[in-house]
Amino acid sequence: MLNIIIFGAQGSGKGTQADKIISNHNLIPVSTGNLLREEIAQGTELGEKVKKDYEAGALVSDEIIFDLIKKKIENHPESKGFIFDGFPRSIVQAKHLDEILKEKNIPVSMVIYLDVNDKELLDRLHKRAIKENRADDTTEAIKNRLSIYREKTMPLIEYYQRQNKIAKIDGLGLVDDIAKRIDEVVEKI
Ligand code: AMP
Repeated sequence: MLNIIIFGAQGSGKGTQADKIISNHNLIPVSTGNLLREEIAQGTELGEKVKKDYEAGALVSDEIIFDLIKKKIENHPESKGFIFDGFPRSIVQAKHLDEILKEKNIPVSMVIYLDVNDKELLDRLHKRAIKENRADDTTEAIKNRLSIYREKTMPLIEYYQRQNKIAKIDGLGLVDDIAKRIDEVVEKI
């Protein structure tokens, strides 16, 4: 089983690269951001609950996120593996993922860390804001999300480095070139 975490700041290209890995390796995508967007778009009770935090660029409660993850994994017992995008976002979430996967005897295989400098990240996020009109791509929410990334999410690099699972990939350049860099690493797992 191949369980990959695609890791990086907002705007690092995680979603784009996750799509490529999914089609090359037949993995089930688990994007907490996408799961939340679906709930919000459908106007479900959960969607209503998370909308305020989502739009402010704040983290949604762990309880809700863990529930979404659990359901998604349990819905795919036959899967060849999962690719996690936007999860885990904190040490608490990473420990929780370890627990879930331990129960199923399927560890995290590798963390692909897409490294992109701050200037490029801001450029990409502002461009995406115009193109996709995402509710959390406002200047204030972007600032908030990047500061949460630095404070809560970046410590995960050390967490997974200690487990020898980080593959740092240069996230600058053409989408296909970055995909090739990732593929070389994934092929070696
Ligand atoms: P993303 O599409 O991954 O950038 O996520 C968009 C927004 O969804 C984030 O800014 C958070 O409000 C929420 N979100 C997504 N994943 C998580 C998570 N693992 N934990 C808490 N909130 C999350």
